[in-house]
Amino acid sequence: MHASEHPGRILRMALPSPLRRLFDYRVPESWSQATLVPGVRISVPFGNRTLIGLLVEQTDNSELAPEQLKTAIELIDSTPLLPDALLELCRWCADYYHHSLGDTLSVALPALLRQGHATSLAEPHWRCLQPLDDKLRQQLQRAPRQLQAMEELARHPKGVSQPLLASLGISTPTLKTLREKQLLVCEQREEPVHWPSPLLHEAPLPLNADQQGALDRIECDLDRFHCHLLQGVTGSGKTEVYLRCIEQVLLQGKQALVLVPEIGLTPQTLQRFRQRFNVPTAAMHSGLNDRERLKAWLDARSGRAGILIGTRSSLFTPLLRPGIIIVDEEHDASYKQQEGLRYNARDLAIYRAKLENIPIVLGSATPSLESLHNALQQRYSQLLLPQRAAASHPHYELIDLRGQPLVAGMTPALQGQVEQHLAQGNQVLLFLNRRGYAPTLLCHQCGWVAECRLCDSRMTLHRSPPHLHCHHCDSQAPVPFRCPQCQSEELYPVGQGTERSEEELQQRFPKRSILRIDRDSTRRKDAMGKLLKQIQRGEPAILLGTQMLAKGHHFPAVTLVAILDIDGGLFSTDFRGLERMGQLLLQVAGRAGRADRQGSVAIQTHNPEHPALLQLIHQGYEPFARTLLQERQLLGLPPFQYLVLLRGEAPAMALSQQLLADTRQAGEAQVQTAGLKVSLLGPIAAPMERRQGRYRSQLLLQSHSRRDLHQLLQVLVPVMEAHPLGRKVRWSVDVDPQEM
Ligand code: ADP
Ligand code: ZN
Ligand code: ZN
Repeated sequence: MHASEHPGRILRMALPSPLRRLFDYRVPESWSQATLVPGVRISVPFGNRTLIGLLVEQTDNSELAPEQLKTAIELIDSTPLLPDALLELCRWCADYYHHSLGDTLSVALPALLRQGHATSLAEPHWRCLQPLDDKLRQQLQRAPRQLQAMEELARHPKGVSQPLLASLGISTPTLKTLREKQLLVCEQREEPVHWPSPLLHEAPLPLNADQQGALDRIECDLDRFHCHLLQGVTGSGKTEVYLRCIEQVLLQGKQALVLVPEIGLTPQTLQRFRQRFNVPTAAMHSGLNDRERLKAWLDARSGRAGILIGTRSSLFTPLLRPGIIIVDEEHDASYKQQEGLRYNARDLAIYRAKLENIPIVLGSATPSLESLHNALQQRYSQLLLPQRAAASHPHYELIDLRGQPLVAGMTPALQGQVEQHLAQGNQVLLFLNRRGYAPTLLCHQCGWVAECRLCDSRMTLHRSPPHLHCHHCDSQAPVPFRCPQCQSEELYPVGQGTERSEEELQQRFPKRSILRIDRDSTRRKDAMGKLLKQIQRGEPAILLGTQMLAKGHHFPAVTLVAILDIDGGLFSTDFRGLERMGQLLLQVAGRAGRADRQGSVAIQTHNPEHPALLQLIHQGYEPFARTLLQERQLLGLPPFQYLVLLRGEAPAMALSQQLLADTRQAGEAQVQTAGLKVSLLGPIAAPMERRQGRYRSQLLLQSHSRRDLHQLLQVLVPVMEAHPLGRKVRWSVDVDPQEM
């Protein structure tokens, strides 16, 4: 330690680097102390590059010798980019997920800010200071460009934006010359921050008793942290409750943050918010370009936007006056990031609400077992909406697949139902969670199957356009004419994907329109929008699709929903398999009968006696989920115990196994010496051992105590960082893993 060499003159910076540490720099002599507050951006030399980082703190001492300290280059901000609560959230997030703070901040900040863009998007406006009279015309006669600029601006006494002037062929140097002559001024114009009144565009619906009860309960705690689980069946009016809570928050002059799983798929959600509220609503999702994203971020931070609706990473957006956080479909797996910083946005949202001392509402028809457990333990208040608001509950039926002849994956019984619903002028939704034509291409002569070169998986056959596609690594190959093993031409597609079902449905129902909705059919921009419009028109049709069709849509004309094959979900190797099956089934089923027509749900299975399936459809989600919770308790799985997965992947299995085996050994030693209650399991091969040409293995840490787990990780992560294999093996820490 080199103490007090530079009292208060060392900057401790978080830099965009995977290294889990901070970096020290010397303050340039010329900088004033006052502006150096935590959270400002500063550019610094790093190797032979310049990086932009965030100031975390100032100190007197550094572990580096004075001559090793480099000097910071440029101070970018005069005020912190992030308010204290968000800096603290990022710090907590980095600690909890054992990730570098610099990389965590990179996830939190829009790309343009990471690159040093100013925290204003205001466009310069140019305005005349003098009327363009004859005398002035005379003066400018020899400068036709300046004269043209003056003429243009004389027509717009309130000023014209620089990009608009540029599009009229008026260049910035011309404008600057005129400014030097004191004929023009340039102004930065921010949009006003105050919201228009009244707040509402439309009158809200009168709430039913359950909705009112939920709203009353949330309103009780509007001024402090409290977590509510709003558990309402699909169509029970959860969104209506969110809108009413937000209205209260806006009335107090505060802002709302609404997290949703995906926006692109459900433009209806955003529309509903914009239709209701007169205040600016910013949206943040993957479809934005960098500038649009920065604008939404700045609008939220400045208080210009009253509501921010966004996907996972918008959780990190600062709000000037935070009032409430809402996490819609809180069980959705997309809240967990599966690479890099493996954070769960729902869990971080709860921590953020605590830091900002505001309420948070988790909404779902099918809450995650974690949230349900917390509600049953009374850590969250559980607000129930058991009835549909504007429709009746659908009717469920199991259809036995065993021994049945199938057409387009449907038993004769189901075909009959489809015919009947269509004949009554309704729409039918068929759910098949497998895109492509067939999941397997098989040689009838020798049994060869098309496999991915890079993964332990089969290639899916696609017909339009024809190719083989690995859905795990995205690699593609032409469809072979002959079997590469025996040269036979008898290559058959085996199994049913959406393309194949579409083809067979067209033969079975030649007069009906079949709308296929999956990632392939919606790849082109606007394709999804067009399909949705066609569905909204309500003419009889068969909608065939993957889980893209399951989420959040409101299809008033759909009366029959059929799940063609539920069995895959019943026998998943993942301990969350059954939970996911139940959630997906009810989400899909929730598309049936959302308007005034009674809905039916048909589920095809080879296991019509499966107890979990029967409990789910006869008793509903919560009894089903409580049974699963009991099993989790017996097996010591979350939410009763906590898990961390250390993963490694390398070009050879021995490398990742060795790194994890050595890590385990270090772990066992630490468990012994520190008396930690953590069990270590593995390393074992990952469920898909080879993926994208890399061999994958994993080491599982399991404990009743989060504290013990984190203490252990504090030792193990440095062990992996320092290990000679740590550079050859791509390894990661996954706290509270979703996929195992
Ligand atoms: P959820 O978010 O739980 O799926 P929504 O809020 O989308 O439910 O409501 C489902 C349907 O019921 C929507 O068409 C909505 O307009 C309607 N609805 C919600 N609340 C009421 C109410 N109190 N009275 C009448 N209709 C309602
Ligand atoms: Zn063959
Ligand atoms: Zn592959």
